[in-house]
Amino acid sequence: MTYIFGPVPSRRLGRSLGVDIIGEKKICTLDCLYCELGKTTKRTVTRGHFVPIDDLIEEFSNEYEKFRDSLDVVTITASGEPTLNIDLKTIAVKIKKIINHPLVILTNSTLITEPEVREALHEFDIVVPSLDAADDDTFREINRPAENISLQPVIDSLILFSKEFEGRLYIEVLLLKGINDSDEHLSMLADIIRCCNYDKVQLNTAFRPGAYKKAVKLSDVELLDAAMHLKKRGIFVEPVENFVKTMDISSEIDLKKTLLQLINMRPCSDSDLRQLFSSSGKLEKIIDELIEEKKIISILKNDQPYFVSPFIGKK
Ligand code: SF4
Repeated sequence: MTYIFGPVPSRRLGRSLGVDIIGEKKICTLDCLYCELGKTTKRTVTRGHFVPIDDLIEEFSNEYEKFRDSLDVVTITASGEPTLNIDLKTIAVKIKKIINHPLVILTNSTLITEPEVREALHEFDIVVPSLDAADDDTFREINRPAENISLQPVIDSLILFSKEFEGRLYIEVLLLKGINDSDEHLSMLADIIRCCNYDKVQLNTAFRPGAYKKAVKLSDVELLDAAMHLKKRGIFVEPVENFVKTMDISSEIDLKKTLLQLINMRPCSDSDLRQLFSSSGKLEKIIDELIEEKKIISILKNDQPYFVSPFIGKK
């Protein structure tokens, strides 16, 4: 049995060596519409022993030695939900002794209600919990939880954990068309996230085929609009795929390219751009350059300055 996979390139985390601590069958607390692993074969909240720890650590140690110089992180994940593994803390502690990279876990948050799970999560440098729903009906529709899970205790425990946790917390929100992407629902999500101590929110959609047909992805523009909606509500959000996947604004060239992509895709108001690229004092200079180069034009709409592509409507 192979427990280690990768390294895989990850936009969110860099080059990651993965550790699967559940094993072959997809065992999860949820059966999400969008799950890329297919339908859950066993939906449960019962934690258990899934993999022989010594075998896993031995395999990990060998693979890590091969790739250590090219890695950014080591990620504990699963073909299912990794916090179902009752040995999570032991495995994390053993791996931490071997590595000199950050240890990450991807979790669907549902078992964070259990003190032992929160205790294990404290061993990690980066925790990436999912939160797709702000109310129980939406939770049931999108995440299809095991019977005994309800959303509010999960939210309360996530907030509690976020306040105690000393590592980095990246909350992942996956949006599906017509299910959890309305402005009203996004505002509710923003209200919950604001109660957490988090580093950033990573916004995603079902880019790859999901387990159920109802998993319809948002378009790039819709994903971007959702990101802006959350930003306007004070959430530090980073959409992670497609257009926005390239939203690397570490240099002026990147910022210019990203702004142009964005404005070619949809008209943007001045205030939209300020909120989206809040970190940048270079924004005005680059907008002026793009106008000068006739790559964008400035118009007034409802007394607000908007920037649009000069080619809109000409295609
Ligand atoms: S929590 Fe993850 S593994 Fe479980 S069903 Fe949802 S997407 Fe799949």
